[in-house]
Amino acid sequence: MAAEQTLAIIKPNAVKKNVIGKIIAMAEDIGLHMTAARMKTLSSDEAEGFYAEHRERPFFGSLSKFMTSGPVLLIVFEGDNAIEKWRKLMGATDPAKAAPGTIRKLYADSIEANSTHGSENKEAARREVGFFFLEEF
Ligand code: ATP
Ligand code: MG
Repeated sequence: MAAEQTLAIIKPNAVKKNVIGKIIAMAEDIGLHMTAARMKTLSSDEAEGFYAEHRERPFFGSLSKFMTSGPVLLIVFEGDNAIEKWRKLMGATDPAKAAPGTIRKLYADSIEANSTHGSENKEAARREVGFFFLEEF
């Protein structure tokens, strides 16, 4: 299978916990390669634009506030089946439902402050990589 790209974000709560290295090591251990990365404190416009699909959800305002509450690490991971591999490694959105050993089980504080993001499918991955790394790819 051809190498695939996915957009990952280490969210503000995980950056504050100082576990960036541990999370990247977990990704490397399952064969993902980091091909771009940037630390950034998102603006409200960026957070709201990035999560635009959730605009009507009741948690949208709170989610945008959380995502702008401190620096995040934006990452492009590449590898065979990268999208599915990274989402499986993150575990369920709600850490209470995340499997043992997953990133969210280890490092999420709540369903909102759930430590990491991963693109949902190929179309989302293309859009999200373009959203943050237009100039690189
Ligand atoms: P992500 O898109 O960040 O990888 P996901 O695909 O597992 O996560 P989505 O349904 O796309 O989950 O939700 C996007 C983000 O919105 C979640 O990661 C979480 O931070 C937040 N979120 C989702 N559901 C809730 C909720 N019920 N209450 C508060 N925040 C939520
Ligand atoms: Mg999602």
